[in-house]
Amino acid sequence: MIRARAHVSGVVQGVGFRPFVHRVAARFGLVGFVQNGADGAHIEAQGDAGDVDRFFDVIRAEAPPPARVDRVVTTPVPLGGETAFGIAESRRDAPKRPVIPADLAVCEACLAEVSSPDDRRYRYPFTSCARCGPRFTIIEQIPYDRPSTTMAAFALCAACAREYADPGDRRFHAEPIACPACGPVLRAVSPGGAALAEGQEALTRAAAALAEGRIVALEGLGGYQLLADASSDDAVALLRARKHRDEKPFAVMFPSIEAARGACEITPAIEALLTSPEAPIVLVRKRDLAPAPISRAVAPENPYLGAMIPSTPLHHLVLSSFGGPLVCTSGNLSEEPMCVTGEEALSRLGGIADLFLAHDRAIVRPVDDSVVRVGPKGPVILRRARGYAPLAQPFPFPDAPVILALGGHQKSTIALAKGGEVTVSQHLGDLSSVEGALLLERTVADWLAFFGAAPEVIACDRHPDYESSKLARRLAAELGARLVTVQHHHAHVASCMAEHGLKGPVLGLAWDGAGLGDDGALWGGEALVVSERGCRRAAHLRPFSLPGGERAVREPARAAFGALYEMGLRGLDAHLPSLSPQVSRVLATMIDQGLNAPRTTSAGRLFDAIAAIAGVRERAGFEGQAAMLLEWAAERASGEQAYPLPLRDGDPMIGDWAPLVLAALEDRRSGRSPSVIAARFHGALAGLAADVATRTGIDRVALSGGCFQNEVLTARVTDALAERGFMVYAHARFPPNDGGLSLGQAYVAARSSTMGGG
Ligand code: ZN
Ligand code: ZN
Ligand code: FE
Repeated sequence: MIRARAHVSGVVQGVGFRPFVHRVAARFGLVGFVQNGADGAHIEAQGDAGDVDRFFDVIRAEAPPPARVDRVVTTPVPLGGETAFGIAESRRDAPKRPVIPADLAVCEACLAEVSSPDDRRYRYPFTSCARCGPRFTIIEQIPYDRPSTTMAAFALCAACAREYADPGDRRFHAEPIACPACGPVLRAVSPGGAALAEGQEALTRAAAALAEGRIVALEGLGGYQLLADASSDDAVALLRARKHRDEKPFAVMFPSIEAARGACEITPAIEALLTSPEAPIVLVRKRDLAPAPISRAVAPENPYLGAMIPSTPLHHLVLSSFGGPLVCTSGNLSEEPMCVTGEEALSRLGGIADLFLAHDRAIVRPVDDSVVRVGPKGPVILRRARGYAPLAQPFPFPDAPVILALGGHQKSTIALAKGGEVTVSQHLGDLSSVEGALLLERTVADWLAFFGAAPEVIACDRHPDYESSKLARRLAAELGARLVTVQHHHAHVASCMAEHGLKGPVLGLAWDGAGLGDDGALWGGEALVVSERGCRRAAHLRPFSLPGGERAVREPARAAFGALYEMGLRGLDAHLPSLSPQVSRVLATMIDQGLNAPRTTSAGRLFDAIAAIAGVRERAGFEGQAAMLLEWAAERASGEQAYPLPLRDGDPMIGDWAPLVLAALEDRRSGRSPSVIAARFHGALAGLAADVATRTGIDRVALSGGCFQNEVLTARVTDALAERGFMVYAHARFPPNDGGLSLGQAYVAARSSTMGGG
């Protein structure tokens, strides 16, 4: 007879882990208990020595997903006097460590109940169990117990209480459970705030409004979403007009995976993602169908569609009541954060939605839908939110001080590194709006309270005007923490290193729109050697002037003008019909006099320039649109010879795109198709990557920055490097875009704190 105590770390809360332990203990006839702590789960098990050992083997090896056991540390303790195995009160004494569970899509068992007329949860939108349902969006503090969630407001009825207490039930100790008798209620509300209907009647009203082409604001899992009939040109146009969103694609929610298959190409890998507990939006290729089941206005000029399937019973009910695919987009005004309270929603979305479908289960924090694309090397998370955030991941600097990193300015996230783990927040969005900046501040407070953390180091971008940088300076002063500013592209490369647990040296290719460089210019076509000693700029693209600065992001013709002007080519703007002779003269003056014409080495802006020169796009509806069109153009061509893009000697070396631009102009003049030009351009960048790596002589290459959201570019660069024997590391679990900056900043701050250098 022995008794052992164990500490279990990993993803062990809110995932049915304690019931699992309970079942295994029953199988071996053990007594003792399992309990949640702020640092994971604790088990004490007593019985025959062999049984106790086998019990812990099973705990280590067989925890059912989404539970994930990272470590089980056991110590022998004196025998106790229990006669059974129980689930004990959660401990609150242990030091807090990041173990917050992510939200989980509805499971099949719950969905079967919601669809079954005989079940007491028939058509109940808030059905969940130990394996599914809201977690992160309802947790106010850890450990994860019902009183610590917004479900605390709903006392369990007798039937639910029986399920909660029954070790043989799927809802044994499942914190967010509810039923029509005791749980949250769905309501239809007018834009003026008047309650119109409840329950089934509310669903019926919403479905009818959608069928009439109206816009419905739905209080989803992590915030309000806007819904519209995805098959109706008029409904989609109405949503675009009211939301002030011209061309940026909308995501579509299909009633089922079968319905999605009708409109898009669903490979087995894509199906696995769509139906996973994370249930993200997945970028899928549209099918060419006439008549199209999805309005062309949903994702204009775009061969891909952001598709998802319902991830909550509420979404299932709305979609099945309506009976077709719905546009499903964040409930916000252009770039602001999502609304999470009814009040916010009515005041900010009152002019957009015709009907509100709301409920009384409060949402603690906004958590948007995640976005994933499936590339040739597997899934890549482009927006990390519902289902993925805030799961912790190992941090390669276990001895680092507590570090809070505040990220960038767009696609903002924050990261907290503590005790050998780093936790990156959900996608917070753009910080340009007052609401965005406030959300960043609230998330920092949320994070520090969750983890009981007092940051010793605060990291941010070196750009002094980012809202995140301003907050970092203020917090560092308030908390007496050391401020570490990290150059934008250094952080990009470090985020990829952190994701793969690399310590360096690596050659990092950081290609993106723009970030402030150490020389005050806008960088973005960088090759950086990152090692324990810091960061060295090994190479960059040849700089050019960007007349109008920010404005050039929406007008790729300006980037093209800047590049041509840099080469001393005058009068060639005849190739850029969107620029009148008058405008061209103004742009030239801006460059000559250095008036709002910043110098840039940005690969993203070079994409824009080539898109304009190739005749693909001279004006963009949103940042990166021209580059995306160029990518899709390149997809249609293959085997084209790459343009010349020589690497000039120097320290740093310079990738000179001038010969490339000349060749592209020549192709355009001789009537070659944009897709040939696009393919030759992508090939040139891949060749440059291989040349830089060869000349630098570092065998590991990390790819980061927004340009690597481009699948064609990533694949071609990876292949070119692998061909010459380099090891290539690209992003998968963290986004290549600025959403990964906080992770990279934390990495750089940790390295500088543990190595004693910057
Ligand atoms: Zn379930
Ligand atoms: Zn109940
Ligand atoms: Fe960036």
